[in-house]
Amino acid sequence: MAILVVGSVAFDSLETPSGKRERVLGGAATHFALAASFFTEVRVVGVVGEDFLPEHEAVLTSKGIDTAGIERAPGKSFHWTGSYVNDLNAAQTLATDLNVFAEFEPKIPASYLDSEYLFLANIDPVLQSRVRAQMPQVKMVAGDTMNYWIGAHRDNLLKVLRELDVLLINDAEVRMLSGESNGLRAAEKVMDLGPKSLVVKHGEYGSTAYLSSRSFTDSPKRKAFRAPTLPLGEVVDPTGAGDSFAGGFYGYIASQPTLTPEVLRKAMFYGSVLGSFAVERFGTERLQSTTRAEIDERFQHLKEISHL
Ligand code: AMP
Repeated sequence: MAILVVGSVAFDSLETPSGKRERVLGGAATHFALAASFFTEVRVVGVVGEDFLPEHEAVLTSKGIDTAGIERAPGKSFHWTGSYVNDLNAAQTLATDLNVFAEFEPKIPASYLDSEYLFLANIDPVLQSRVRAQMPQVKMVAGDTMNYWIGAHRDNLLKVLRELDVLLINDAEVRMLSGESNGLRAAEKVMDLGPKSLVVKHGEYGSTAYLSSRSFTDSPKRKAFRAPTLPLGEVVDPTGAGDSFAGGFYGYIASQPTLTPEVLRKAMFYGSVLGSFAVERFGTERLQSTTRAEIDERFQHLKEISHL
């Protein structure tokens, strides 16, 4: 089953307690696609500039990711500058250079139209809605967003939320979207806005899935499920952890015949595992060298450290 992801393909300049890197390959769609590629076929819709070289594209194509939907535009690729020097759990945005992203108008190649799963990574909700409208036949739609869109583009975002099967956001975003500080009440308010399920990422502390009676065809036994993260000796660069979580989570779901409560619980664990690899090196470096055997090993380890 193929996933179509639309989102940023970028260069990131990063500073963390482990050091600094300039213009490493990044972007929400890049991290998501790499993580999901371990489970299923992935197709990317995005835009890059003249600085996106064959060696950057090869990072994706060497994992079997379809890049036919990455448009080339005159100018520079999207460039994000972020710092985690004060807090490894919260990125501080120092600069967002939209560059070719400013004029981005997503175009879906004909060869992508049969994708069963759609992931709307963090971009302008107007663009998310346009892509959703071009993919009416998809089996499932999941999406992400960030504080900027929740604050300044709320009405456009609310339209996207009504179309989502699963929304994946972090604690601060749930609080901001709901105006509620209690986690459970905040999750309920967000689900009232449309998403059938909500996955809240708690950074290094794990993630919680909230399920409504609309989440599955058969009614789930549990209304919520919490997955832990792996205790890691060193976090080098948290950039892309959320997108890698989403890629592992959604990639696993797309690899399964139907979405059941059991599949969703395992997907949460695979999300944690892919996130744990992403943060071990700067940019996409660690996910590029990760093997399926390593993923399975960490999945088992996560099970062992978290069951009664
Ligand atoms: P996360 O998984 O939340 O750490 O996402 C990190 C990725 O999001 C980075 O690789 C950035 O290139 C990308 N990013 C940061 N800001 C934006 C934005 N405003 N729109 C789209 N992508 C962004």
